[in-house]
Amino acid sequence: MLLVNVNHRLSSSFVPNLTSVDNNQRLDSRVISSYDKLTAAAKAAGAELVGGSGYRSYEQQVSVLNRNISQLESSKGLSYAKAKQTALKTVNNPGASEHQTGLAMDFLTPSEIQAGSDVTQAFAKTKQGKWLAKNSWKYGWILRYPKDGKKYTHISYESWHYRYVGKKAAKYIYHHHLTLEQYVKKIKNK
Ligand SMILES: [Zn+2]
Repeated sequence: MLLVNVNHRLSSSFVPNLTSVDNNQRLDSRVISSYDKLTAAAKAAGAELVGGSGYRSYEQQVSVLNRNISQLESSKGLSYAKAKQTALKTVNNPGASEHQTGLAMDFLTPSEIQAGSDVTQAFAKTKQGKWLAKNSWKYGWILRYPKDGKKYTHISYESWHYRYVGKKAAKYIYHHHLTLEQYVKKIKNK
């Protein structure tokens, strides 16, 4: 059970074994079969999903953060330190992004992809968002950053971000309304 957050970071050299999925995204090879089952079931239920963003390397996260900092410096005239502080409210520090594990996927709907849109909070209200929230656990995936979970995850609600944790953990987390942080603490204390 790999926990990655602001307090548990991956090294810059951490790279999982990767396999390609839809939309040129990649995931840890070990989760491909569960990912395929999840997306097939969603499609059969009329809630077709598109993988918007799966594995991201440490270096990609560095450039995402740096791009965000420069934008804030130029558009808002912030100092580097202030811009970095602001950027880190929405972008993870390199090593602290769960996308580096290859165990997480940001989902989009086919119409979002067609419109060239990035993830949005509106996903929660789509057929896809609703289907995932209700059914992902059956395939070993959890809503990683639930509403009211920020106290534990340090990240605001993200209706599009799902994480593979295995069927047993997913079932427990779903039925007890936990965050991964709470679950990991619980199994450590056993
Ligand atoms: Zn994400």
